[in-house]
Amino acid sequence: MIDLSSDTSTRPSAAMREYMAAAPVGDEQLREDPTVNALQDEVADLTGKEAALFLPSGTMCNAVAFIVHAKRGEAVILDRKAHPNVSEGGGPAVLAGVMMRTLDGDRSVFTVDQARAEIAAGGTHISRTALISVENTTNLGGGKIWPLENLAGLRALADEFGLKFHMDGARLMNAVVGSGHSAQEIASYVDTVWIDLSKGLGAPVGAVIAGPAAFIEEARLWKHRLGGAMRQAGVIAAAGLFAFEHNVERLAEDHANARYIESELAKIPGIHAVNGPVETNILFFSVAATGLSVVEVGQRLLARGVRMAPYAATNVIRAVTHLDVNRADCEQAVAALREAVA
Ligand SMILES: *Cc1c(COP(=O)(O)O)cnc(C)c1O
Repeated sequence: MIDLSSDTSTRPSAAMREYMAAAPVGDEQLREDPTVNALQDEVADLTGKEAALFLPSGTMCNAVAFIVHAKRGEAVILDRKAHPNVSEGGGPAVLAGVMMRTLDGDRSVFTVDQARAEIAAGGTHISRTALISVENTTNLGGGKIWPLENLAGLRALADEFGLKFHMDGARLMNAVVGSGHSAQEIASYVDTVWIDLSKGLGAPVGAVIAGPAAFIEEARLWKHRLGGAMRQAGVIAAAGLFAFEHNVERLAEDHANARYIESELAKIPGIHAVNGPVETNILFFSVAATGLSVVEVGQRLLARGVRMAPYAATNVIRAVTHLDVNRADCEQAVAALREAVA
């Protein structure tokens, strides 16, 4: 199966597993796991933040960030298609008790003016805005990289109104490789940022959130409360260290493969790219003009050994490149798609 449905489908390589098996470990809850500590230090350095915290998932990173940055009843400004709004089981409502003030960004990238219009000081009626949250790269926005100007503008806006600024950097390293800006430069505009280890970086589990030391201490308490505190977690943290060492620069190959698929799709009658052009490893396309539904096309692809992600609600298909698909796989996937809609 050539699996382009998500970059979460990557499996730990033999070399990564060997590195994991050899990792020194200790009790992570007692801050005594040397591998977890090394990973946290590495991400703090990489993002230019005071401290970092290893968590079981990116979803928990967003949950903890919303809980710590906003009080119950306060509001978070974010894109309507942002992960916390559409893919976290209502976590922001259940766990953080926050209101969502959603914006319709351009490929999930919104402007300072759009955000400014949603800021409220609070009182007995409208809830106070506490936080701005952005996704970099944007997932449902087709892997778009946030321009630094927008981030700088939002930073200034946050400072003007005393808001916090959070970045869901599930694919921050794709933004780094795709833009040529360092993680530190991109993260310099936000208070907190996290990186998923289990997406394009190819580790099996985990994410790391970075920010000011005081934030990370409070995040550690919430990690424990939410059941995310682990024991000999160095075994999995090691996969993250391995990934930062070996799997970052190669993201450029994934980006080239996504551009290749994009250019080949343009030659298939009835297929139309949406949310393009490709900037990183995610692309979306419509098959509406073929008269087939996305679900049908998804099934026809599966029958040909190719998995993509049909989004029935929005009538588009997503393809995501990653380290477990090479150029030959992408060529085969394009050929399968050509047959599927013929
Ligand atoms: C995958 C993803 C998450 C959640 O990460 P998990 O590690 O799967 O919990 C959050 N935000 C974005 C943009 C993502 O793509």
